[in-house]
Amino acid sequence: MTNPSQRKLIIAIDGPAGAGKSTIASRLARKLGYVNLESGAMYRALALRAIEWDASFDDEAALLKMAQSSQITLERSIGGNRVLINGKDVSRRIRERDVSEAASRVSVHPRVREWMVARQREMGVGGGIVMEGRDIGTKVFPDADLKIFLDADPVIREQRRLDQQKVKGPSARAMAAELRERDRRDRTRAASPLVAAEDAVVLDSTNLTEDEVLDRIEELVEERLAGH
Ligand code: C5P
Repeated sequence: MTNPSQRKLIIAIDGPAGAGKSTIASRLARKLGYVNLESGAMYRALALRAIEWDASFDDEAALLKMAQSSQITLERSIGGNRVLINGKDVSRRIRERDVSEAASRVSVHPRVREWMVARQREMGVGGGIVMEGRDIGTKVFPDADLKIFLDADPVIREQRRLDQQKVKGPSARAMAAELRERDRRDRTRAASPLVAAEDAVVLDSTNLTEDEVLDRIEELVEERLAGH
């Protein structure tokens, strides 16, 4: 009989921006010795490509072609991901505000999503991954061993994001408004809107520290490894 602790799980972490997914996913992956994959980075990379080529965010066919003809690489790593487009490291650039906004616009297109989901599934072969995003538990890995939907009060999410980026004053207000709009778009789009999978464990991190969230997820991982 195989030792259950040697099973390599697929762990999906979904939720809105600012709920703490990236930090939690990266810390969890490091603890478990798993690979951490940020699916959002792929949408961001495509968005950056569209910005650079002055392509319309509404032109699904052009965006799909762009995705197919670019080499978007998420380096599999235990900590955070490096993101490369045709070999060029764009990890920092894709975190900027214009790219965040563009990513939520290019990701509404069903054919773009299908292409992304296929790539993301390939990356998950063999398990031992923590993948975070918006549709991991619902679309990318509907059979994931553990699905977490990490949420938090919108005001807290905005504040965390502003603190993270050290933004204050009028730009803070603009950034908070962008976050709300991105959220609205992610939740209301027709293709794979942001929702918790039916079998996801919903964790509200509003009143929890990062360590508390991580402890709770680790307990769930233990349960899954033990076969519950
Ligand atoms: O997670 P992150 O904030 O980097 O994602 C950027 C944008 O990419 C999200 O606002 C969302 O529109 C899109 N996204 C998505 N599906 C995913 C991951 C991200 O639609 N699995």
